Parts: sequence; structure tokens; C-alpha cells
Amino acid sequence: MVRLPFFLARGFVAAETMAGAMPVIRRAHQSGMLTTVDLLGEHVNDRSLALQARNHYIQLLRALAHERHQHGVEVNISIKLSMMGQTFNEDFCLENLRALLTVARELQGFIRLDMEDTTLLDSTLRLFDAVYPEYPSEIGVVLQAYLKRTPKDVARMCALGARVRLCKGAYREPAHLAYRDMTEIRARYIESMQMLLTHGRYPAIATHDDHLIGATKAFAAAEGIAAERFEFQMLFGLRPKTQLRIVDSGYNMRVYIPYGRMWLPYYYRRLRERPENVTFLLRNIFRA
Ligand SMILES: Cc1cc2nc3c(=O)[nH]c(=O)nc-3n(C[C@H](O)[C@H](O)[C@H](O)COP(=O)(O)OP(=O)(O)OC[C@H]3O[C@@H](n4cnc5c(N)ncnc54)[C@H](O)[C@@H]3O)c2cc1C
Repeated sequence: MVRLPFFLARGFVAAETMAGAMPVIRRAHQSGMLTTVDLLGEHVNDRSLALQARNHYIQLLRALAHERHQHGVEVNISIKLSMMGQTFNEDFCLENLRALLTVARELQGFIRLDMEDTTLLDSTLRLFDAVYPEYPSEIGVVLQAYLKRTPKDVARMCALGARVRLCKGAYREPAHLAYRDMTEIRARYIESMQMLLTHGRYPAIATHDDHLIGATKAFAAAEGIAAERFEFQMLFGLRPKTQLRIVDSGYNMRVYIPYGRMWLPYYYRRLRERPENVTFLLRNIFRA
């Protein structure tokens, strides 16, 4: 496989190794942000690679617990189930997920299941449902506002009392499953955000979109929902000044910090999302 040089990705990806990511996580914590850490990689089709990913995640949980002891950072990670066997053996993936959750409980940590494309959605929710009753405080899920089914999933997660991260959705989906028009996606996002703020358990509002951030703050203020009852989330490297402004204005802000050598698909999604991100990439090339 062709490997591109890391300097291309460094604006969006903290480092290629766990050791390299730790100072970035520490700095985010020191500037008042919460963090969630992601080992990059997806769609692993080989049992030994899936076990390797599971073991790496366990090491990451332990390394974060050590950092918490030293520097106060949280033990909070985001994972993709397709990295732990989901695409070829759901039972095997479930075993791997349980192994991680056992460690997360021991360390009082939290694991968020990132949501991938719709071919994996039912399976992701099945795996979530299989472990949630046993680990309600250690696991959370992601729902994507661009999907037509999402209001029902939001209502179900609210009824379960499960922690949800709400995002727009980052994959190319067929028109019968997903909205494509940005005005429509924003409107659906706001509906789900309101439902989660009113009935959900500590929801995460993950977006860089000022319109949605403003709508969330306005709704919380109008309904008397305290800032501690939810959090904003943004991706590492995107809108860093806005991230700090949100912290300074008294809201919880969690930054999603990815690291690892398998950064290309994540990086490609970021470039596709916004033309400005391509400018950012070009600046990095010329700075190198
Ligand atoms: C913490 C986090 C976790 C995520 N997890 C998942 C997941 O599990 N599954 C998934 O499918 N997707 C995930 N996503 C990605 C998400 O679905 C969107 O694809 C992505 O966030 C882009 O949508 P947006 O609302 O942030 O802003 P966009 O729709 O990209 O932009 C909307 C507006 O926001 C403003 N804006 C956005 N970026 C910038 C910028 N860099 N500088 C200045 N202004 C900007 C501009 O006004 C822009 O017009 C996650 C996103 C975040 C933040």
C-alpha cells in the first residue's frame, strides 16, 4: 500500500504514535478542554489485525489512566468497531468490545462507538445493545443527523438513558437513507439536538457549524438547561480558536484527538467536507 508522508496530515492528526499523541492530549487538557482519543483505522478484515487493534486500545486506556494520575486527563476513547472484527465476525467483535469495556470499567473510563457508514449501522447498534445493559456508564453511541431514521434512534437512546454524540454524518449515503441538502440536515440536527438536550443523558453536540452551536446555546438558555448537562465536541485541528472561545464562555468542549499511521480515510473525509480544509492542507505542504 502507498504511504503518504505524515506532514500532509499533521493539521488534523495529532501524531503517528500513542507516545506522540500524549503531549497533544495533555495540552488540550491544560487549556480547559475535555478529550476523546481515537486510534485511526477502519475496515480490518483479518483476525490477527483486529486483535492487535483491541490490544492497542487496551494499552491506550491504560496509558490514559496513567496520564490522568499524572496530569488529570480523562480516560475517554472513541473506537471504530470495523477495526475489531465487525465486518467479518460480529461475535468475535463483541468479545473484543467486552474485553475493552472490562478494562474501561476497571479504570473508570468511557468508550464511544463512532458511527461508520450505513452498511455497519444495524450491526453497531446491535453490538451497543448487547453490552449497554451491563456497561451503561462506560459506553456511548453516535447518531448521524443526515439519516432519515435518526429521530427514532434518538428517541430510543433517550428512553434507554444512553449517552449520544450527535453529528451530521460524514459518509456518502444513498438518497433513500440520508438527506443531502444542508438546510434539511441542519433542521434535522436541531430537532435531534432539542430532543437530546431535553430528554437525553449528557449528550454531545459534535459540530463546527456556528449555526448549530448557536441554536444549541439558545435552546439551552430558553429551556433553562444548565451548561453542565451537555458538551460540545470538535475535531482536533479544526477551529481551535472557536474551541477555546466555547470553553471560555463556560461550556464543556471535548476535542476528538486522532492518531495513528492509518490516517488516510479520516483525512480524506475531512478534505471532502470543506474546501477550506484543502487550503489548510496546502499551507502544511508549503510549511514542511
Ligand atoms: C467530535 C466529532 C466526532 C465525529 N464523529 C463522527 C462519527 O462517529 N461518524 C460520522 O459519520 N461523523 C462523525 N463526525 C463528522 C461529522 O459527521 C461531520 O462530517 C463533520 O463534523 C462536518 O460537519 P460540521 O457540522 O462540523 O460542519 P460542516 O458541515 O463541515 O460546516 C458547516 C459550517 O460550519 C462552519 N465551519 C465548519 N468547519 C469550519 C472550519 N474549519 N473553519 C471555519 N468554519 C467552519 C462553516 O460556517 C461551515 O459552513 C464527527 C465530528 C465531530 C466534530
